[in-house]
Amino acid sequence: MSQPTAAPSRTAEIDAALAEHSSLPPEAIFKEDLLRGGVAFSEDALRIASGFKPKSYFIFSFDLTPIDQMEQAENLRAPEEMCLIGGPRGFRRTIVSVRVNPASPHRVELVEGRLTLMLEGESVCDVQLQEIPEYYRRSLENGQPVTQVAPTIEWGYLIYLTVYRKCQYFGFQEECRFCDINENFRQQVAAGRPYQTVKPIDQVLEALEIIASSDNHAKAYTVTGGSITRHLKGQQEADFYADYVRAIEERFPNRWIGKVVAQALPVEEARRFHDAGAQIYHPNYEVWDPRLFAELCPGKEAYVGRDEWIRRILDAAEIFRPSHVIPNFVAGIETALPHGFETIEAALDSTTEGLDFFMSRGITPRFTVWCPEPLSVLGKDQGPAPLAYHAGLLERYRDTLRHHGLAPPPGYGEAGIGNAVFSVSAFMDVL
Ligand code: SF4
Repeated sequence: MSQPTAAPSRTAEIDAALAEHSSLPPEAIFKEDLLRGGVAFSEDALRIASGFKPKSYFIFSFDLTPIDQMEQAENLRAPEEMCLIGGPRGFRRTIVSVRVNPASPHRVELVEGRLTLMLEGESVCDVQLQEIPEYYRRSLENGQPVTQVAPTIEWGYLIYLTVYRKCQYFGFQEECRFCDINENFRQQVAAGRPYQTVKPIDQVLEALEIIASSDNHAKAYTVTGGSITRHLKGQQEADFYADYVRAIEERFPNRWIGKVVAQALPVEEARRFHDAGAQIYHPNYEVWDPRLFAELCPGKEAYVGRDEWIRRILDAAEIFRPSHVIPNFVAGIETALPHGFETIEAALDSTTEGLDFFMSRGITPRFTVWCPEPLSVLGKDQGPAPLAYHAGLLERYRDTLRHHGLAPPPGYGEAGIGNAVFSVSAFMDVL
């Protein structure tokens, strides 16, 4: 009988990915690894981090540990994002969203007075954190902190307005299997965070007034929230979200690039976002493969259906123009058990087919890196997609975009290593 082979260390896995994907910036490989598997913090690092811009839990948990298992209260002390820079590998500035995982081999520690990213005991690079913006210290008249109403991500580039904090796809039969929006709402409220189910429009405008008076870094806002399959406050989904965009554009005409993340709606309903002033529409398709779409997005499959979802994305391009319809997919769920592809190559081939389908029509999808959130169905008992998948996807994405002669999607700031700020995947870093 053969001896069990030890799992390769994370360092060995990263080194293998670096060697195999030498056309990618090394920073992007580390970024994907941090996003898929999370990062731990020493107590000293958390003490320092709590003086910088904090994680706001702007929609999902994006953590690999539930709050009630965070022994160092990371949910209150971890930063929103970190900037990887310098160190023995000479990293160029790379912005990474923080996904808390106290068991991660990536660990931010205080070394000789500097925040340092360590991997299995070796120094990787310095870690810089974002100063707390002036508007984060302010509250609305009713006492709601601006951080809760209008947090910013992407190093201050994007104002993230989750105006409806729940999703009407509810329970096992409907909720997307990778998503913890409803469970995260419950855990945040239990932990004392002042989450509101629906953010009133006047409060959103008041928070934006405060941001507008003291900030010129933010260049875009996103209006989003869960799907509305029935009614919310007496409105259907298109009208509910369009009202926020219209109110923002009336008060602050063209101050920021307006974006809406919503379901793929019938074309006349999607038009309402455009008419309200939104420039970019994100009708997220989550996963390309039809079988996996049905398995992983049972609510979307039942209410809309995958083929109709795709058709509506194409229809929306007639209104917004193709470059401004940017559907998201969740990179890595194609490999998740029990339904996922059995090989990395098969997962990449399927996802690339989807990229090719959209990009050949001038539509540029974008992706976030899946981290298995333990309060979601898929995240309960499995690890993330392999690093080799994520590295391969970055190459496939870059090459497909080039093949179709497309520019990086608008509304994400600058592309390129050292310049990109999009923090939940490295796709902008590698363009
Ligand atoms: S539609 Fe799916 S991914 Fe979006 S919030 Fe609802 S359950 Fe989550």
